[in-house]
Amino acid sequence: MRFDILTIFPEALHGLLSVGVLGQAVDAGQIEIHTHDLRDFTDDPHHVVDDRPYGGGAGMLLKVEPFVRGIETIRPESGPKTKTILLSSQGRLFRQADAQRWAQLDGLILLCGRYEGIDERIVQFVDEEISIGDYVLTGGEAAAGVIVEAVSRMTPGVVGRFDSIESDSFYDGSERLGAPQYTRPSVFRGLEVPTILQSGDHAKIEAYREAEAWKKTARNRPDLLGLHPEQSGAQSDIEETTPDG
Ligand code: SAM
Repeated sequence: MRFDILTIFPEALHGLLSVGVLGQAVDAGQIEIHTHDLRDFTDDPHHVVDDRPYGGGAGMLLKVEPFVRGIETIRPESGPKTKTILLSSQGRLFRQADAQRWAQLDGLILLCGRYEGIDERIVQFVDEEISIGDYVLTGGEAAAGVIVEAVSRMTPGVVGRFDSIESDSFYDGSERLGAPQYTRPSVFRGLEVPTILQSGDHAKIEAYREAEAWKKTARNRPDLLGLHPEQSGAQSDIEETTPDG
């Protein structure tokens, strides 16, 4: 699996994508991560990548030409099953099912916006416009990191024990979160690890985990179970922190 990330800040991703499971997967040749400086695809002496929006308005927009040149340069380097993804706060929401599907591809080309975003004509040159959540980041690099992480985990061989993936939240379209887990010490500040998990009875442990996973889903993500509409986290934060509100 090959990832190509087109950005004005290639250095932004180097730390995150070179450590832990991802770093090992790169070293083992299971995944390739290439970051590309958008300025390398400009054709003017000053390597200008942005300009003012037509019609006025605050801020600058990234120009469409360097992105398209970048895609056209990178595309032949990647395999036939490669998708080009525009990272955008206005895109379709990224889900675990996308990570599982995209892990079967040869490559992903990820386009990172900055400033006010990218000239809208870029959508004609991509396969999908994708958001990682209903909030606005300053740039697409963090979103690209999220997608590389999630897709790499699903790439065969990257995570050593596949059963650890299968028990993760959201795996295979599940609407159930993963079960709560504990490690040593068995008692911390009076908080005890449930005794059943220390019993060695695998059937009982499995049943306990299943029940706890559903309870946690109902508590933290009732929307997944259709229990009641999504609550506004922002509203409850304000209520909790305003003394006389
Ligand atoms: N003007 C845009 C709007 O109104 O939605 C916001 C642009 S944002 C400040 C700059 C860049 O950050 C975007 O072009 C996109 O690449 C990236 N970005 C911001 N939020 C994102 C999100 N939720 N998911 C994916 N990319 C995001």
